[in-house]
Formats: sequence, structure tokens, C-alpha cells
Amino acid sequence: MTVSAGSPAGAGPTPSDPPGPIPPFRYQALPMRVRFGAGELAALGEEIDELGLSRVLVLSTPEQAGLAHRVAELLGDRVVGVHPHAVMHVPVDVADAATTAALDAGADGCVAVGGGSTVGLGKAIALRAGLPVVAVPTTYAGSEMTPVWGLTEGGAKRTGRDPAVLPRSVVYDPELTLSLPRALTVTSAFNALAHAVEALYAPDASPIISLMAEESARALTAGLAGLRTDDPGVRSRLLYGAWLAGACLGATTMGLHHKLCHALGGSLDLPHAETHTVLLPHVLAFNAPAAPAAVRALNRAMGHDHPATALRDLARALGAPTSLAELGVAREQLPPIAHQAVTGLYSNPRRVSEPDVAALLDRAHDGVLA
Ligand code: NAD
Repeated sequence: MTVSAGSPAGAGPTPSDPPGPIPPFRYQALPMRVRFGAGELAALGEEIDELGLSRVLVLSTPEQAGLAHRVAELLGDRVVGVHPHAVMHVPVDVADAATTAALDAGADGCVAVGGGSTVGLGKAIALRAGLPVVAVPTTYAGSEMTPVWGLTEGGAKRTGRDPAVLPRSVVYDPELTLSLPRALTVTSAFNALAHAVEALYAPDASPIISLMAEESARALTAGLAGLRTDDPGVRSRLLYGAWLAGACLGATTMGLHHKLCHALGGSLDLPHAETHTVLLPHVLAFNAPAAPAAVRALNRAMGHDHPATALRDLARALGAPTSLAELGVAREQLPPIAHQAVTGLYSNPRRVSEPDVAALLDRAHDGVLA
């Protein structure tokens, strides 16, 4: 079985591409407000007041319960409780318990403080109970910018799009990312980069999204390179790049890379951000011949002629995993993933066959680029 190729151009237009007509596009702006800046957490109460909320439930993972209580203290009597029980991939029973907690407390909204897992729990409550979400992201995953929800049951993850789950407001405060462990900082930034890369060749890219994706790749790769220095602006640049990448993710349809990460993560229970980090250079190397405009944009953003190699080298220099073997994957586990990756129709700039994906996964297993 093969997967259909995306638009013939294989990439969204950008004004810096060679002259020629701008291809037709559609662009839907998403209705949300963003605040960005060091110390902006202090404005969260104002943000909640402006949304007309007065009884919010603060959500976090158990590991970030301390931060959730700090936020609750900051918000004072606008808060009806703290629910620090978010878990990766939003298991249905966790979503059920959180929805019950929100309704029992008479909450009129949720404040999700954390990474994609916590924002995901806020979205699950929004989906079931219609309560609006305010997000305070502390990783670079980007879920806060998308109307995409996910729920896991019996080892299988269901996802869907619903405008009701899109956070009404997002407060990005780079100071909250200072506690993110170095290893997760690197892999989470690669997770964000993957959104930007796939948006550049998405079938529904538009000039504004292509500009955002290129700028995102610029900010994220500069931020990652800066992690080896003492530059105090690094965390803010990474979070800025992650915001742009999340916006690209929310506005476009992702391709082979996200399909493969979903299949690997779901079937083998692999860690989300690390899986993105390992696969991204391999998928980019595979798609590059069919996505010349995306490659030009990445060359400009990264100041490098071979973005796939540059990404792999950057990951390696920062001590991130660069092979599936490092994530504990055995070669024998890969054939069913290759099959899954070509099942169901999705868009990708280069036509994909099962032997193609098998070969790509084989290279990713060993960490050897094509
Ligand atoms: P995560 O939210 O699971 O966070 C990983 C760990 O890091 C958690 O223990 C968390 O408490 C901790 N952590 C987060 N920020 C921290 C900080 N600043 N300091 C210290 N510890 C911190 O991981 P993630 O990668 O952000 O999110 C992954 C999940 O998000 C996956 O389930 C993925 O499918 C989902 N996701 C969904 C979308 C979407 O659009 N729906 C987009 C991206 C990711």
C-alpha cells in the first residue's frame, strides 16, 4: 500500500522563494490570545478576569504539583481547587476523574500548568464538560496552540479536532521552563522543530504559516545551539520558537514524521519527545527531494546546506538520542510499524511505500542517515 503524495510543490510558498505566482491557499486564524514574556505568569489573574472566569481548577502532573499550588496561590479566590493528576497521553480514567473533580467543584474553567500531558487533560475536560481552558505551557510540545485532543484507552490513542478544546488564552513565561531538565529541554525543542518542518511541506501550508515555520526553525535551532553557552536569552528564544511551531501544528496537516511517531509511540510506548528527536532527521532526509521549498526555508533558518544532517549533528552534540536502538527498540519490532505507517491515507510530499518506511526505520534504528 502506498501513501498519497501531498501538493506537487511539496511545500508552502514563502515570499523569499524565487519569483512566481503565489499558489492559492486557505488560512483560518484560530481564536485565542497569547501573552509572552519573562514574569508574565503574574498577569495570569488578569487574563482569567478578562475571560470572565471566577472559579478555575488548576491542573498539573504530580511532578509539577508544587508549581500548580504556587499558581493557585497567585490566583487567590478565583481558584476552586488543584488537581495534580495529569498523565502522559491522557488515559480515559484520568480524564473521567478530572472531569468529575471539575464539575463537583463547580469550576467554570481550567488552568493547565505544564507540558502537553497537562494541556491534554484540560482539553479532555473541555471536550466532555465544555469548560474553557487557559494554558500555561512549561515545555515546547505545542499542544496549547491546537484544537487537537487525544485520549488513550486499552493501549490505543484516539485523537480528534474540536474548536472547543483550543485554549482561550495562553501565557508563555520562559521563567517556567528554567526547571525543565536539560535532556527534556533538548528533545522537547526537537518535538517543536518537527511541527515546523512538517508545516513547511504541509498540503495546507499558506504564506503566513510558512513564514512562522521558518522563523520557528530559526529560533529553535539557535536556542538549541545556545544551550551550550550561558546566553540568558536562550530559554526565551526556545519558547518563542515553540509557540510558532505550535501555531503551525494547529494550522496544518502533518505528514510521515508525525504518523511514524504516533505509530511508534502508541505501539511501543516510547517517550514522546525523544521519539521525535530520533526520527526527524531521517524523515527530513527522505522527504527533502520532494520538498525543495521546505529545504530552502530550513537552509535559510539554520544556515546550513543539509538540514537533516545539521539536525542530527545538533542532537548528537547536545547528548540527545539519535537512534531507535538507544530508546530500547529492537529491529524485530519495526516491520509492524512500517505497515501501520502506510495504513490510512494521509498527505506527505513524497510518495511512501512500505519498503521505503521499513528502510527509513532501519536507518533510524542504527542512527545512520541516508
Ligand atoms: P509532558 O507534559 O508529559 O511532560 C513531561 C514531564 O516533564 C512531566 O513529568 C512534567 O511534569 C515535566 N515537566 C514539564 N515541564 C516542566 C518544567 N518546566 N520543569 C520541570 N518538569 C517539567 O511532556 P510533553 O512532551 O510536553 O507532552 C507530551 C504529550 O503531549 C504527549 O501525550 C503528546 O501526544 C501530547 N501532545 C499533544 C499535542 C496536541 O496538539 N494535542 C501536541 C503536542 C503534544
